[in-house]
Amino acid sequence: MIDKASKAFFHTLAGSRNLKHLASRYGMRSPRSFARRFIAGETVDEAIVAARAIEASGLAQTLDFLGESVATMAEADAATQAYLKVLAQIVGSGIGRNISLKLTQLGLTIDRATCVDNLRRILDAAGAHDFFVRVDMENSAFTQVTVEISETIWQKGYRNAGIVLQSYLPRSLADAERMNALGARVRIVKGAYKEPKGVAYQAKADVDAAFIEIMKVLLAGGNYPAIASHDPAMIAATRAFASKNGIPPERYEFQMLYGIRRDLQAALRAAGFGMRVYVPFGREWFPYFMRRLGERPANIGFVVRGILNER
Ligand SMILES: Cc1cc2nc3c(=O)[nH]c(=O)nc-3n(C[C@H](O)[C@H](O)[C@H](O)COP(=O)(O)OP(=O)(O)OC[C@H]3O[C@@H](n4cnc5c(N)ncnc54)[C@H](O)[C@@H]3O)c2cc1C
Repeated sequence: MIDKASKAFFHTLAGSRNLKHLASRYGMRSPRSFARRFIAGETVDEAIVAARAIEASGLAQTLDFLGESVATMAEADAATQAYLKVLAQIVGSGIGRNISLKLTQLGLTIDRATCVDNLRRILDAAGAHDFFVRVDMENSAFTQVTVEISETIWQKGYRNAGIVLQSYLPRSLADAERMNALGARVRIVKGAYKEPKGVAYQAKADVDAAFIEIMKVLLAGGNYPAIASHDPAMIAATRAFASKNGIPPERYEFQMLYGIRRDLQAALRAAGFGMRVYVPFGREWFPYFMRRLGERPANIGFVVRGILNER
């Protein structure tokens, strides 16, 4: 109940232009500003510094150049070009080649065909340099089209892209089975958006049970699935299922978000598991940041303290 209320509250706040203005002014302006707990920086150079530190501690990373819901073709094109530049900078830096992106950043809300063209421009450049590209999953208005685009991309021969499925959506179990049949890589998450009853499970127990069911389907028959959760119960269930079924750690990886449960990230790595950290960066960090606050209302405390300290 508290979960639902807090997601809804932060969803509403995320739409506030005043709050965005205030947060943007204070959130990232110094190395200790509050948004830096979850966002690696506003520039790719800052993200690369963060990625190097992550790799130095034995973890892998995926960089996410933040942006979503662009409103014009010109913005979608600019986002695509910016991503192509980011790829070149990653290659130049020598860090691991793995990125995450959102289709609404590439124009999905404006024109599907243009979005697919933009995605293919990125996948072509990524393929030339051995990148893996993860297509994040957004709110449920985009689930079907994101699954369809992933399948189209697969049929066109792209093997360097994977999708995300959300366990709060009852449909995701069937989507996981479809992706397994294709051989496409899946990241399973619980789901970060505020979704209505009838579309998504509302009770944590249902979301968790579905996560475990999909995790098992992916581990048993999927292609290098990513189990993305900070929830010790989800991690324990994954480890238990893998060990019972003789699935070695090389066949899957755990993933967590930058700045969240670093202790658990390190512990899993030390125990011999693959751990990839999702590193978001860029000027468009506000919606991502608000989703992180909505997941854990206690986070609001350090934001308020941060703003008070900065003023
Ligand atoms: C690598 C990665 C990629 C993701 N990609 C997507 C995506 O494409 N689409 C999508 O909808 N969602 C995505 N998510 C977010 C995901 O859906 C959840 O919203 C988020 O991971 C929180 O769920 P949880 O599994 O950690 O479990 P929860 O039950 O929410 O949390 C378990 C515990 O984790 C810790 N925790 C969780 N969130 C926070 C937080 N914000 N701050 C501090 N501690 C926290 C707390 O200790 C909490 O008790 C992604 C998550 C990860 C890790």
